[in-house]
Amino acid sequence: MSSSVGSSLAGRAVVLGGSLAGLLAARVLADTYDVVVLERDAAQDAPGARRGVPQGRHVHALLARGGGAFEELLPGISNELLEAGAVGGDVLADTTWCPHGYRLRNVPCGLRAVSASRGLIEAAVRRRVTALPHVKLWPSTTALELVATSNRVCGIRFRSLSDDSSKVLAADLIVDATGRTSRTPEWLGALGFPRPVETRVPVHLRYASRTYRVPADVMRGRTALVYPATARRPRGALAQQIEGGRVRVSLLGYPGYEPIATPEGLSAHAASLGMPDIEQIVTSGEPLDDIASYGVAANVRRHYEALERFPEGLLVTGDAICAFNPSYAQGMTVAALEALTLRNLLASGDPNLAPRFFRQIAGVVGRVWMVGMANDLQIPSVRGPRPVQLRAMNAWMRQFFAAAQHDDELSVAFARVASLVDPPERLRSWAIARRVLARRCGLSPYEIPRGRVGHNTRVDNGLLRGRP
Ligand SMILES: Cc1cc2nc3c(=O)[nH]c(=O)nc-3n(C[C@H](O)[C@H](O)[C@H](O)COP(=O)(O)OP(=O)(O)OC[C@H]3O[C@@H](n4cnc5c(N)ncnc54)[C@H](O)[C@@H]3O)c2cc1C
Repeated sequence: MSSSVGSSLAGRAVVLGGSLAGLLAARVLADTYDVVVLERDAAQDAPGARRGVPQGRHVHALLARGGGAFEELLPGISNELLEAGAVGGDVLADTTWCPHGYRLRNVPCGLRAVSASRGLIEAAVRRRVTALPHVKLWPSTTALELVATSNRVCGIRFRSLSDDSSKVLAADLIVDATGRTSRTPEWLGALGFPRPVETRVPVHLRYASRTYRVPADVMRGRTALVYPATARRPRGALAQQIEGGRVRVSLLGYPGYEPIATPEGLSAHAASLGMPDIEQIVTSGEPLDDIASYGVAANVRRHYEALERFPEGLLVTGDAICAFNPSYAQGMTVAALEALTLRNLLASGDPNLAPRFFRQIAGVVGRVWMVGMANDLQIPSVRGPRPVQLRAMNAWMRQFFAAAQHDDELSVAFARVASLVDPPERLRSWAIARRVLARRCGLSPYEIPRGRVGHNTRVDNGLLRGRP
């Protein structure tokens, strides 16, 4: 086995965790390495919920940018999902979307997304990745600790269900994709390396979800209903069409507004939203499963990019690096973008893999994180500093949405940013500001002079560019 990492050097890569981030990482590693994926859960062929991924019973939207990245990694995967019953649609025209309580226009934005249960998405990805000649999935196998010699990780100690004693699997590269509960920080500490600094946003968000069969006129051809929580109403609801002609609903709430995971609790929560379609699904839909509940204590970002010392032969990806507020539907997309970053670095043959990988994905993760954090901090119960720039940005976004409810172009601009196709800066470009101001003043955008936004109306505060 080789002792270094790079595209010209074959060897063994071991991925810890066989969920989406792990499988997508395995897909790109297989171009260079023999890959073994260690997964704590038992083998699973059919789509469905499993113990290691309790979030799998809740609404999971794959953003348009994520769908594109999945397709780049696994060409044809979208069609496979559609053939398996997933529902495709325009991200804006086929969605009822009410950010900040304002309903966006139902016009085509040209971005399509595939709506399916997380179980179906994972099963399709797993089938494709494990069919690759260089990938082996070891189910019922728990990673216990890293094994290292001086500056380099050279294996993983693991235990399989069939064997009481632990063993060591040697590896040229280990990729930790074990999700929110990743133990890499403590493993690093045990090996004498610094642990990454963590940023936490304590959201204390609770989900309660159920799957229903509903008459066709309830969804009226829409693939998704998105009613995010707002500052004045810190509770919300998400619904999506999934395979099998079913509709999955997730009700969510911040402290004091949490959904109660009983049929009566769901009905009361749905009624309190004032969204007749959600209420109709929950009160008159035919329930197809038990109610699932999930609590997210905090969004967590681990700053591996800032570490001065990090062992060779180790990477971290997916929720193990950054677990976002799930209601913004960013996790699967970011995992796929991280896999694309890894693919490009492996192809370049750069031996300095970890620092480059962490630096490059910090750009992607940081942007997505800052947008989510700005949104979270509108919710009164979420603790955290609210500098004047952040308050200005949120005030601006309220103006934006108030205008977007009447404006096709603004609605499309938001859909593209929320789908991670366009950068967040786009929403504070002069062209957008001009449209918002025109709408707010009852003018045509052409009546607002061209040029730079003046000091009073300036919306560029650096916040969404990732500056602290
Ligand atoms: C309630 C909720 C709703 C969400 N909704 C969305 C959404 O709408 N859209 C979206 O894009 N994302 C959403 N997400 C995020 C999304 O689920 C994750 O980003 C995505 O699954 C990628 O996560 P991951 O693969 O990094 O980790 P996970 O999916 O958490 O998987 C970790 C894997 O590692 C395994 N494992 C853990 N420890 C060990 C060990 N020691 N040894 C071996 N295996 C181990 C686990 O069994 C599991 O399979 C949501 C998350 C939550 C909590």
